[in-house]
Amino acid sequence: MYVCGITPYDATHMGHAASYVAFDLLNRVWRDSGIRVSYVQNVTDVDDPLLERATATGVDWRDLAQSQIELFQTDMDALNVLAPNHYIGAVEAIPDIVPAIERLIADGVAYRVQGADGEPDGDVYYDVEMAGKRSDATDAWTLGDVSGLGEAEMLTLFAERGGDPARPGKRNVLDPLLWRVARDGEPNWPGATLGDGRPGWHIECTVIAQKYLPAPFTVQGGGSDLIFPHHEMGAGHAYSLSGVPLARHYSHAGMVGLDGEKMSKSKGNLVLVSKLRAAGEEPAAIRLAILANHYRSDWSWTDAEFAAAKDRLAQWREAAEQAPAGSAGPLVAAMRHELANDLNAPGAIAAVDYWAKEALRSGADKSAQDTALVMDAIDALLGVEL
Ligand code: ZN
Repeated sequence: MYVCGITPYDATHMGHAASYVAFDLLNRVWRDSGIRVSYVQNVTDVDDPLLERATATGVDWRDLAQSQIELFQTDMDALNVLAPNHYIGAVEAIPDIVPAIERLIADGVAYRVQGADGEPDGDVYYDVEMAGKRSDATDAWTLGDVSGLGEAEMLTLFAERGGDPARPGKRNVLDPLLWRVARDGEPNWPGATLGDGRPGWHIECTVIAQKYLPAPFTVQGGGSDLIFPHHEMGAGHAYSLSGVPLARHYSHAGMVGLDGEKMSKSKGNLVLVSKLRAAGEEPAAIRLAILANHYRSDWSWTDAEFAAAKDRLAQWREAAEQAPAGSAGPLVAAMRHELANDLNAPGAIAAVDYWAKEALRSGADKSAQDTALVMDAIDALLGVEL
């Protein structure tokens, strides 16, 4: 499994948290069913938003990245998200990315753009049309295969999500950047025949995934805002480089709003995991509030639902203390059944709720063995520690 990582310029907000918890759930369900999992995640430790934030705040971009990576990992740890087997930075992947881009140029699916308006010559772009034409096998990639979007929608999202449709000299407005040659005041690395510079975001994930996972690997995950252009273009890059698809499945977590509004830095309504933790909120309750929503649905963080998650956690703890003898086995089976159905965490939670109500009501013989098994199962499957 490959789950796209953060660009470390800001603290982990609830949308990030929900996305990593969703794929943590998949990781846990796979492991529970005896599957060996190799989990790879990148961190985009050099990119425009990071450099812009560093400049705006007068912090060295490396220090900003380092501090935000540490905060992210602390948040993930607190939320009981199992760490990836490989956590790879964009910067450390550059020696692998450069030859991949050189190969795309040599194969005619990437090209250099001449600078206009004071821009230097030599930025490299991926030729989406040519790449589509070169892919003639049945499982090949053509633009739109991953996202299923039409050209107008693609163009809107491309402009919104870091693309540069108006860049002069591109063959197709949707061609994404592979290599940005050095500019004054921007960090850059040796690029061999490409010239010094830094990589684009899609090729970063592609090369890291291809290096650390088999081809194709099973699931590429991320938030639904990564469907296009990020996962679409990554699938194209991978096919152009290897002749086989990058991933068998693309899976996307829903977006999280606040009280029914889109959560965004510009609206100033980001719910930050680190802030909740600093306010003394328990990470297990945050995680339970996230899991009360199906991972694919868009949902909103509200105080009422967070309060409900805290009440639920307290009730589960009380019930676990008096787990009736023989009740744990059926509960574990019910949780597994729900999670096997497209990671239906709300269903698994409902199963625990039902069990807890019965445990508190029945007055049956308590069993230490059942208490231990219930606590283990809720921790192992849902990642919630009672
Ligand atoms: Zn990615």
